[in-house]
Amino acid sequence: MGLRQRVLSHIGLVPNPVSRATREATSRLRGAQVTVSVCPYCAVGCSQLVYSKGGRIIDIEGNYASPINGGTLCPKGAATFGLIHSPLRVTQVLYRAPHAECWEVRPLAWAMERIAQLVKATRDAHFEERDAHGVPVHRTLAIGHLGGATLDNEENYLIKKLFTAGLGIVAVENQARI
Ligand code: SF4
Repeated sequence: MGLRQRVLSHIGLVPNPVSRATREATSRLRGAQVTVSVCPYCAVGCSQLVYSKGGRIIDIEGNYASPINGGTLCPKGAATFGLIHSPLRVTQVLYRAPHAECWEVRPLAWAMERIAQLVKATRDAHFEERDAHGVPVHRTLAIGHLGGATLDNEENYLIKKLFTAGLGIVAVENQARI
């Protein structure tokens, strides 16, 4: 805007010199439905605000009303939106056969059945009722489980209950603690 226009604007002879696009620009979150949620990653339990429009999540941020995180999120929690919409997210079962060089897409039901069969066979082959001193242990040291950081509290509870108490697996760990 030139000097003449600025002077005219200053004395009120020119309407607000803002483009229509700028005048109509608003936050993309305006009008979105806001749902209070909890970060799925760790036991700190930071509160999140999930913004959605038309049933689609458009943003996730820290809940400033939360006494736990006061609007903040750590880098992992701040990336929750990417967990949902990242184009890099793997959404199919990928299987690489022993000695194979590439991955194959397989049905989920096939993968679940194969995992169940291998877990059962390995546990049966290596289950110990007593250790070398005769102490009851009811364990298998042949299987370990490493959970991902995106497992939520309920999933971790079930994993721990099934794998430790149910199958006798000792090495049960979660990425969030590494
Ligand atoms: S992962 Fe980060 S943002 Fe999520 S609950 Fe834990 S500390 Fe909070």
